Amino acid sequence: MYKAKAYSAAGATAPLAGTTIARRDIAGHDVQIEILFCGICHSDLHQVRNEWKSVMPTVYPCVPGHEIVGRVTRVGSAVTGFKPGDLAAVGCMVDSDRTCPECQSGLEQFCPNGTLTYNSPDKHLGGVTYGGYSDSIVVDQRFVLQVPGNLNLAGTAPLLCAGITTYSPMRHWGVTKGKKVGIVGLGGLGHMGVKFAHALGAHVVVFTTSPGKKEDARRLGADEVVVSRHADEMQRHAGSFDFILDAVSADHDINAYIQLLRRDGNITLVGAPEKPLAVPVFGLIFKRRSLSGSPIGGIPETQEMLNFCGEHNITADVEVIPIQKVNEAYARLLKSDVKYRFSIDMASLKAE
Ligand code: NAP
Ligand code: ZN
Repeated sequence: MYKAKAYSAAGATAPLAGTTIARRDIAGHDVQIEILFCGICHSDLHQVRNEWKSVMPTVYPCVPGHEIVGRVTRVGSAVTGFKPGDLAAVGCMVDSDRTCPECQSGLEQFCPNGTLTYNSPDKHLGGVTYGGYSDSIVVDQRFVLQVPGNLNLAGTAPLLCAGITTYSPMRHWGVTKGKKVGIVGLGGLGHMGVKFAHALGAHVVVFTTSPGKKEDARRLGADEVVVSRHADEMQRHAGSFDFILDAVSADHDINAYIQLLRRDGNITLVGAPEKPLAVPVFGLIFKRRSLSGSPIGGIPETQEMLNFCGEHNITADVEVIPIQKVNEAYARLLKSDVKYRFSIDMASLKAE
């Protein structure tokens, strides 16, 4: 066991503050990573504030962070894919049972015995796992990803959650050239959704509540932008979408988007607001539309996504901050004021 620097929250209303945590010593299959950048996901905020208490209650102290990019410092004797000095990345999962049908299919995100990067029981040290708002982490090589060498590292970190969470459902629902795709909410997830849908060749329409983001949406790859508070603009797209990705973090009217789907169209929720959304069934019944959810993505698909980003030169648009600004960043997330992901420069932890 060794000590690592980290930022943690002591309770649902407490600010994040500097601390030290225990990390395990590397064993055979482990990779030790010096964390260089960690993205701030809105899920970190939901979890720190215990907004998902009915599904995933938060254990305190909580060290969030599951968009991790860094450099390998040490590897266990059985590690084959990484050596000290390599770039490496870790997303939302650090372990699973590896034997269930989901794991056998490379869909570890559905493993009933998975271990999340933070706030999951830690089978090595007891307590719960601690995430990437830290200077170091130890992860089994099976859950460590290779980072393409051509990508900006601060912008690569968010690919590990915002990237895979938007890439995976688009692949699942067949987003390709010729499809009309809507992205709801231009935040961290949404802006990655725009980039992927554009790169996959779809006609992309962004729905935003922030008129000030219109120009950015086009620059990111949108063909059209709709300010969702304008009913007439919404109506113009009625019954026309093959697929809509809803990446909104707060309560909103989902029926307004169901109405925009064509026959057999699908809307997938990746946004995870605290309160349940009201779903009007007739909106689904009349055009045999479907409503789904989707959690992150499996390890093989996460690597596929990173390779896709390497080939297409895709990273997140980030605002790099020192860890000391994390509480301010959370306050800005709540105001939809991020362009379009905060990425923490972990070198700033050295000053703690
Ligand atoms: P984010 O950066 O805060 O973006 C959320 C966006 O939603 C905002 O930028 C805003 O976009 C829109 N929005 C916010 N409040 C709204 C409201 N009241 N009505 C309508 N639109 C609103 O958050 P994020 O990190 O992208 O995460 C988005 C959601 O996905 C969170 O709930 C997060 O927990 C969840 N998530 C799920 C998964 C998964 O596996 N399914 C993975 C990661 C995150 P505009 O300004 O354009 O309107
Ligand atoms: Zn996330």
